[in-house]
Amino acid sequence: MLNGKYALITGSTSGIGLAVARALAGEGAHIVLNGFGDAKAIQKLRKDMAEEFGVKVAFSDADMSRADHIDLMFEQLAESSVPQIDILVNNVGIQHVAPIDAFPTEKWDAILAINLSSSFHTMRHVIPGMKKRGWGRIINIASTHGLVASVNKSAYVAAKHGIIGLTKVAALELAETGVTCNAICPGFVRTALVEKQIEARAKANNMTVEEAARDLLLEKQPTGRFVKPEDIGGMAVFLTGPHAAGVTGSVYTLDGGWTAQ
Ligand code: NAD
Repeated sequence: MLNGKYALITGSTSGIGLAVARALAGEGAHIVLNGFGDAKAIQKLRKDMAEEFGVKVAFSDADMSRADHIDLMFEQLAESSVPQIDILVNNVGIQHVAPIDAFPTEKWDAILAINLSSSFHTMRHVIPGMKKRGWGRIINIASTHGLVASVNKSAYVAAKHGIIGLTKVAALELAETGVTCNAICPGFVRTALVEKQIEARAKANNMTVEEAARDLLLEKQPTGRFVKPEDIGGMAVFLTGPHAAGVTGSVYTLDGGWTAQ
């Protein structure tokens, strides 16, 4: 269905980004991975994905906290075998947990840069080509924290509320161009980002890691189950598919009932 399209997924060497990349590759899209990690492991990931899905898999190690790295990534992509980006998934994100009056300013700056500003920078690069071709799909991975707040997550909640605002502006600006922009808001997904929070909770409350995972979930997510990375991939497939051509400026929660409360 996405044969011949090129998809860039930021922060896709693990977790949700990797699951979204695999889902889009499963639909036939060529993939540009981005993120950090062991060079050999990433090389293997590329080779395995390319073989499994019969698509091209490129990689950029651009640091999404840096506008200049993002500019350079697009320069390098233009000179490489990736002729264009048809699908942009702004997925990269980090977390830091502390009350506002103890929140390190460098963590605030990093979270705003990575979780919000990077999406502005990638979008300003891909939008002109998408408009010219009359087709494009932009998906921003926000969070339930784009809709509601939790204590000790000021930077994350501010950035995620911001990305939903950016999604809506892009949807309006691009409404007549064939380019859509939507946001996905996952609840808790058990990735490295959440595992750190589970471990901290286990330590603070003298619990096992599994007890702490259950405790974290039950505080917010009525199903008591983690959302699966593959489920976010499935939503990305829908948003890039033919039935979502008229869907733009929308915010989809996949949160086990978190924001129903
Ligand atoms: P993760 O930690 O598993 O993956 C993060 C990815 O981003 C990795 O590939 C990492 O290498 C990359 N990365 C980190 N900093 C980077 C940088 N400066 N430049 C380039 N790449 C960088 O995290 P995840 O849980 O898969 O999160 C992905 C997205 O989903 C984030 O935006 C996160 O806020 C959002 N999200 C996650 C959850 C959850 O429960 N896990 C819930 C809601 C939203």
